[in-house]
Amino acid sequence: MKKLLLFIAFALLGGTMYAQDDYSNYPVYTGTDLGLNYSKEESVFKIWSPIAEEAQLLIYAKGEGQPALKTVKMEKGEKGSWQAVVKSDLLGKYYTFKVKVYGEWRKEVPDPYAMAVGVNGKRAQVIDMNALSPEGWDNDKSPAFGSNKPTDAIIYELHVRDASIHPSSGIKNKGKFIGLAETKTKSPSGANTGLAHLKELGVTHIHLLPFFDYNSVDESKPEKPQYNWGYDPLNYNALEGSYATKADNGMVRIKEMKDMVFAMHKNGLRVVMDVVYNHTGVTEASNFNQLVPGYYYRHKADGSFSDASACGNEVASEMPMMRKFMIESLKHWVLEYHIDGFRFDLMGIHDIETMNEISKALKSIKPDILLYGEGWAGGSSPMPEEKRAVKKNVGMLNGIAVFSDDVRDGIKGSVFNEKDNGFVSGKAANNESVKFGIVASCPHPQVDMAKVNYSRVPYASNPSEVITYAECHDNHTLWDKLKLSAGTTNEAEKKKMHQLALAIVLTSQGIPFLHAGTEFLRDKKGVENSYNKPDAINAIDWTLKTKNADVFKYTKDLIKIRKAHPAFRLTSGTDIARLITFEKDSEGNIVYTINGEGAGDTWKKIVVAFNGTAKPTTVNIPGGGEWKAAIGAQGVVKVTVKVDAYSAVILYQE
Ligand code: CA
Repeated sequence: MKKLLLFIAFALLGGTMYAQDDYSNYPVYTGTDLGLNYSKEESVFKIWSPIAEEAQLLIYAKGEGQPALKTVKMEKGEKGSWQAVVKSDLLGKYYTFKVKVYGEWRKEVPDPYAMAVGVNGKRAQVIDMNALSPEGWDNDKSPAFGSNKPTDAIIYELHVRDASIHPSSGIKNKGKFIGLAETKTKSPSGANTGLAHLKELGVTHIHLLPFFDYNSVDESKPEKPQYNWGYDPLNYNALEGSYATKADNGMVRIKEMKDMVFAMHKNGLRVVMDVVYNHTGVTEASNFNQLVPGYYYRHKADGSFSDASACGNEVASEMPMMRKFMIESLKHWVLEYHIDGFRFDLMGIHDIETMNEISKALKSIKPDILLYGEGWAGGSSPMPEEKRAVKKNVGMLNGIAVFSDDVRDGIKGSVFNEKDNGFVSGKAANNESVKFGIVASCPHPQVDMAKVNYSRVPYASNPSEVITYAECHDNHTLWDKLKLSAGTTNEAEKKKMHQLALAIVLTSQGIPFLHAGTEFLRDKKGVENSYNKPDAINAIDWTLKTKNADVFKYTKDLIKIRKAHPAFRLTSGTDIARLITFEKDSEGNIVYTINGEGAGDTWKKIVVAFNGTAKPTTVNIPGGGEWKAAIGAQGVVKVTVKVDAYSAVILYQE
């Protein structure tokens, strides 16, 4: 209601509605020089605001407080742009913009294109990007993973602070970017932690939760206990200050973030950035909205902000200048920080056309960049679903994958009902949902779609379109979920269920995705939505790695198997239908073979068996003969194999 009144007030004030219809008359600026162009001799500042009557640039000595050193009147340029040139060396100074619309000066805001910002992102900073790279950065190379196909990736989802903040991490720079650049760090019992752990585990891509400058943590109080996942973007092209050792100089965070990427690359790991272009952390007050009221957002029929993100607004990715902003912003992260992939938060809000433009632009820079997102929204949108990048439309996206909630909840039970159990915890009815996950949501004649939990049609045509997972930062960790939903089973049984879930994720087709700590039973003390909960809930307790060393070893073994065997990383939907055969399954049991020879694998035949029930079962090995055991059995087996309760068996013939 408040927003609506404000909107009407604007409308009356200006005598003209800022209606959506008007935006189509706004000229589109095609230059790539919006924001700051710095040199020692001069700094050129450019913004786009076709509705502005006047525009000002304000220069400051500091990132906050103190009056402006100077206010510069900006000159109107072509296609709605405004420009100011300052002929002196402004390096290290801070700046903001202000525009007058319908006779009223709007709030002063930092440059939407700001690459660096001061404390709490209030002002942009003049920097020389080239001077902020570590030595040797020009030779930095993204490490190879398999043959660099999407299905060769094994993603590990991690929060910068969670990785190191626990006392057991042995990491010096706790909670910071450079904490993840420290090598050879150990837990009290001598287990590898941080970067050394990631390397030891064998994953290929480290997906970091939002690390662009977000709104919710007060960067001026580094000693105050604060926590947030960071899904509330403030400055899209700048870094979050609380992850730097100093937040009051925007240059420090750039330098330290690059140190982290450089260290990861040197240790064989690629870096994926979690991006949140679907909404802004603040609405009325955002830098977009202050410079061009309303333009960057979708609206309801009454003119108020629509809210498919459930966070107060939804960005209009289809508007030419928003689409342009997203593409340029993503290119900035790839070109300046050597980012190797992006995870798009609530991608189902974005229009398909924009996502495909993004894919084209990024793949022309880095052909093996990994792109994936959440194929859903957080609420209804005025843009029809057939135009948006939702899960069922993945076939219309070029080289962008979606998360499979079908397999996620098939494995462990619904995230919307904490008591619901899944295949690994004895719910036999989930067989088909897990089988649908095994084939990466691709068409397969032996998967009965009528019995799959959320989808009635196989939405993917290739496994590179699907992220296979059992848990992520959202909702309970798998271990907490098992505690809530696995009935009266004991801890040893739950541990087996957890391992079975890992076995399903890491042997299924598609792109596997692990939530940090799942390899040693990470819990969040039963807290479901921990986005702003203290470190006591969110921190990774590295002593668990030693306590649950068996689970860690099991995960590591599965990763090793997956990386060595292309049969688990098929590259086309046709191969999946052709090379994977399900045996007649019984409730709670799934047995399938992969024709490894057809996949060019050294394992010519592979049998995978999952038992999600409380009783051990004996499986007749398809085709009989002698088989070697890789997981879940010992040595050589013949004719039949015993699959223990809540467990997996992998057999092969060479
Ligand atoms: Ca911030």
